[in-house]
Amino acid sequence: MENVSELEREKRLRTVPTDLPTSLGNVVEYRKSGLSLNHVVGCPLDCGYCVRHMFDNFAMKRPHLVVDDERAVAELMAHWAFVPHVTPIQIFNRATDPFLPLVKEHMAHSLELLDAHGLTNHVLIITRWKVLRDDIERLEQLRHLKVSVLVTWSGITDARLEPIDSAIAERSLEVLADRARRTRKIMYWRPIIAGVNDTDECIDRASALSHYADATVFTGLFHREQIRAHFRSSGVEDLYGDVHRRKILPRKVEQNILRRYNGVPIFRKTSCGIAFAYAEADYNGHFGIRNICDICPPNQVRICGTSHQAPSRAKLSSLAETVGLDPSRIEVSAGKVIVEDSTEQQRYFLQHVLGFQVHDRALPHLPERHGRAEEGWN
Ligand code: SF4
Repeated sequence: MENVSELEREKRLRTVPTDLPTSLGNVVEYRKSGLSLNHVVGCPLDCGYCVRHMFDNFAMKRPHLVVDDERAVAELMAHWAFVPHVTPIQIFNRATDPFLPLVKEHMAHSLELLDAHGLTNHVLIITRWKVLRDDIERLEQLRHLKVSVLVTWSGITDARLEPIDSAIAERSLEVLADRARRTRKIMYWRPIIAGVNDTDECIDRASALSHYADATVFTGLFHREQIRAHFRSSGVEDLYGDVHRRKILPRKVEQNILRRYNGVPIFRKTSCGIAFAYAEADYNGHFGIRNICDICPPNQVRICGTSHQAPSRAKLSSLAETVGLDPSRIEVSAGKVIVEDSTEQQRYFLQHVLGFQVHDRALPHLPERHGRAEEGWN
């Protein structure tokens, strides 16, 4: 990769230009898998389906530093939603890859700063780039944080969709299997696209590779307006009929994968893969949506079942007031809390603190669809 080699020749990251969109200037953001720390933005890897299309950042090929690590970590810990030892954290999962040259120094240093506070929060590091022995050795020195490296692998060979060779992720998984001990490793199989990388050969390859990991998580494609527009401009025929808010993974594709896959335990949800890797309950409380668990190993189902408990009215009311939701419009239903007129951030906070699913009445999760877009499920 031309741009990565250029990066390797630099001594340090440049700082961001002054016209950075405001959305990227906010280095801490609350997402479903936790508080996301993003004080490096820009990426040379050019994955066609990258969420950077949605932040107007796809053209920034060189990673840039927004603020230094000390300030970023301080902002994370001061964030209204940060709960020590509880809130899951992700680093550099929005607009760069954490294992790129120079970027990885900031990733490791930021985690060391957090670890020095004795924090035991989960940290998710998602990459499709090269994970080297030295990188793992450094992560292994952390003493408190529960770190998981999720290696994105797709098996896609069409460079218009993904120019990066999947062999890079395969090698990263191998190195992790060889060196990681306290660091957990997840085979992050995505984006699975109907008719592109859902063949029996892909499933067999994913099964084989999964043995380098503690767990596999599989998921589909974000087919948002900006991503479809990018594919169209690259000459790719529309991959799906429509754009959707949620990821697309048609029922038939999922069924075929689950029939054929024969690797380590496989999960529909990222947090479930993490839960299994640490033998603890899912911090997103997916156990409440029981059909998500039909592929989960019995021992893990027991672990989640034991800690699954509907929150008390008093606790809900107090948390609702913390995030500015009207407690009188909150309902505890089977396996989930239902709120109204909420933002994603409000729901994620409740969900992570309670370890219990929280849905908005206006955005229902339909039975057996596992939170996916309707495409392919009608
Ligand atoms: S039991 Fe259900 S919620 Fe828990 S890890 Fe398994 S799939 Fe996820």
